[in-house]
Amino acid sequence: MALYRLIYVSQAIAGIGYADLIDIMNKSEENNRNVGITGMLAFGDSMFLQVLEGSRQLVSQTYNRILLDKRHTNAELIEFSEIEYRNFGLWSMKAVHIDDHPELKPTILKYSSSEKFNPISMTGKQSLNFLYELNLQNQP
Ligand code: FAD
Repeated sequence: MALYRLIYVSQAIAGIGYADLIDIMNKSEENNRNVGITGMLAFGDSMFLQVLEGSRQLVSQTYNRILLDKRHTNAELIEFSEIEYRNFGLWSMKAVHIDDHPELKPTILKYSSSEKFNPISMTGKQSLNFLYELNLQNQP
């Protein structure tokens, strides 16, 4: 079956914090495991950057459900493409709270114009590579 990868960026509504991220991660892990979706979610400076991998139908369904979530807004699709293999296969959904990890600043700077996490300014390749490095730094 064809595998797809979807990457998007969105803005958290005011007041969203660590507890909400944990809540989203727990629900995502459960739902994604049930349908074979893997990925990574980065949250920092009130922005979400997420990658989802899986079948085209289930990635689409999941993304459509995520778009309805009132905890974020202004979602922008960065990439939706066919892939040969998964890059995030170890995680049904790993969430990283960027603001809690100052040691990630060099990784942010590597893919951005400054150390500030601002995924909306990243290209598709930059956001994928950034998430992939987060993935490598957060192995189970
Ligand atoms: P329930 O958890 O029962 O939720 C029912 C409804 O209530 C949904 O519309 C839900 O959006 C809303 N809701 C639930 N909790 C809250 C809350 N605290 N505040 C406001 N509304 C709420 N889900 C996945 O399955 N996989 C993912 O990878 C994934 N990634 C996400 C990334 C982001 C940035 C966000 C904001 C959400 C993500 N979610 C993800 C959650 C997703 O948006 C849905 O909330 C969830 O999938 C619904 O699960 P459910 O069908 O079991 O319904």
